[in-house]
Amino acid sequence: MGRFDGRVAVVTGAARGIGFGTATRFAEEGASIAIIDLDETAAAEAAGRLPLADGAKAVGIGCDVSNGESVDAAVARVVDELGGIHILVNNAGITRDNLLFKMTEDDWDLVMNVHLKGAFLMTKAAQKHFVEQKYGKILNLSSVSALGNRGQANYSAAKMGVQGFTRTLGIELGPFGINANAIAPGFIATEMTDATAARLKMDVEEFRRLNAEANPVRRVGFPEDIAAAAAFLCSDEASYITGQTLYVDGGAKLG
Ligand code: NAP
Repeated sequence: MGRFDGRVAVVTGAARGIGFGTATRFAEEGASIAIIDLDETAAAEAAGRLPLADGAKAVGIGCDVSNGESVDAAVARVVDELGGIHILVNNAGITRDNLLFKMTEDDWDLVMNVHLKGAFLMTKAAQKHFVEQKYGKILNLSSVSALGNRGQANYSAAKMGVQGFTRTLGIELGPFGINANAIAPGFIATEMTDATAARLKMDVEEFRRLNAEANPVRRVGFPEDIAAAAAFLCSDEASYITGQTLYVDGGAKLG
């Protein structure tokens, strides 16, 4: 028996990286999964690779989380095709890094729209179902960058915004049987951090090695590390935890 037997989990930005790792873990524990990503072909291909339990289903849906119409259509499809919605992981994300004096208005708007507006729109669409059924789990992806990071004024503001959003969801939705929490990952080896290495003109392995040395556990994180924490926070074992942000960063920000 899995912790998510009979549950439907929606994970945004899950065609790869942390989102796919989390969707995989939820599938291993019995959930039916909706993989949401910009490109429907990539989402469907990822859904086809999930280790589904007997009777569980998966679907890949193309959706831009920063667009209200696209989000409403995607959530309606999830309910229609998978029979409901119980867990939402707001994971979709982008970076547009630059020092403040070089950062454009577009860099700012794009990052705010995907991380913050995207989480708002997805959560608003899902909570209607959660409130009706008096059950729901919401998990938002923040970042250690919320605490401040050179070249990431837009991203760090969005990721700290996610923490405030999560606390407010905890307050408003707790009485309806809904838990909302956030995970703030440290350095996780994905295409997002590989792209950062490329931008800094560094070799990917060297970039990972330097980031591993920068934290107490002396290794980088992997999507599985976030997926394990996500599975706990979205399970019924964590039903007395809400509004919290868990740093999963190998102790990187301990000082
Ligand atoms: P990733 O490998 O770049 O994957 C992000 C996924 O989100 C991509 O598939 C991307 O699609 C999708 N996406 C982007 N914009 C979207 C939109 N508007 N609507 C729907 N999907 C969209 O990133 P990751 O490293 O797995 O990161 C996942 C989350 O964790 C993000 O919120 C990130 O900020 C956070 N995080 C990551 C790290 C890290 O070290 N990796 C650390 C802290 C926090 P396309 O490929 O089509 O753009």
